[in-house]
Amino acid sequence: MVDVRGVHKSFGALHVLRGVDLRVGAGEVAVILGPSGSGKSTLLRGINHLEKLDRGYVRIDGELIGYRRTGGKLRELKERDVLRQRAHIGFVFQNFHIFPHLTALENVVEAPLSTLRRPRREAVAQGRALLARVGLADKADQYPRQLSGGQQQRVAIARALALEPKVLLFDEPTSALDPELVGEVLDVIRGLARTGTTMIVVTHEIGFAREIADTVVFMDEGLIVEQGPPPAVLDSPAHERTRAFLSKVL
Ligand code: ATP
Ligand code: MG
Repeated sequence: MVDVRGVHKSFGALHVLRGVDLRVGAGEVAVILGPSGSGKSTLLRGINHLEKLDRGYVRIDGELIGYRRTGGKLRELKERDVLRQRAHIGFVFQNFHIFPHLTALENVVEAPLSTLRRPRREAVAQGRALLARVGLADKADQYPRQLSGGQQQRVAIARALALEPKVLLFDEPTSALDPELVGEVLDVIRGLARTGTTMIVVTHEIGFAREIADTVVFMDEGLIVEQGPPPAVLDSPAHERTRAFLSKVL
């Protein structure tokens, strides 16, 4: 389970996260909505310590991320230990972060081989199974430039799954895709939601949010304005700001 408490983050004078609390239970899907600049990406990046927090903390399955507590004080972990923690937090970015010089299969097995030191045969067998799971069994030996955006994003998802993450974070995974490729990526994420993968998904796809979310979270100006089950937040939002946002995107 993911536990975000009292998180603050500023960039210079810009106070981007102003006290964010969020809990996502094991197997649950939280979908974050909110206007551009509200801090959604900063929050996701803060969860896996790509962004250092100014205040507050993040725990995943009870483990403090990026810090350890010694004598009541928080000390930042060494980079090596942060990388070890990050291995259990899958992150799928808007612009499919995969290695251009590696094939689809090599992209998927890279982290299990280098980070987990898995035997090659085992990593390859798992990698092929993951590519099949995202509908790319026949693309294992293709390079990213030979794949469509939707296929590249599905490789990125398989790559994130290869480390058997405790949680998967998605930052607008379909917003860089041509419209006709959005569906195939959403299908994969939908499948993961069904199999009980804990996920936090930032998206502007409201229909999709309604379908997969256990909790819809509306963020504005660095705060969670409201959160709840999809019908509550999407159909009868309690806050004017949520209503205003939804009336623009629906
Ligand atoms: P979008 O929907 O456009 O992706 P967002 O909700 O993800 O927006 P963030 O990317 O979290 O918003 O950015 C929140 C604010 O913080 C913005 O004003 C942004 O310009 C600023 N910001 C983000 N990262 C940095 C940084 N590294 N340095 C300075 N300012 C930053
Ligand atoms: Mg963003």
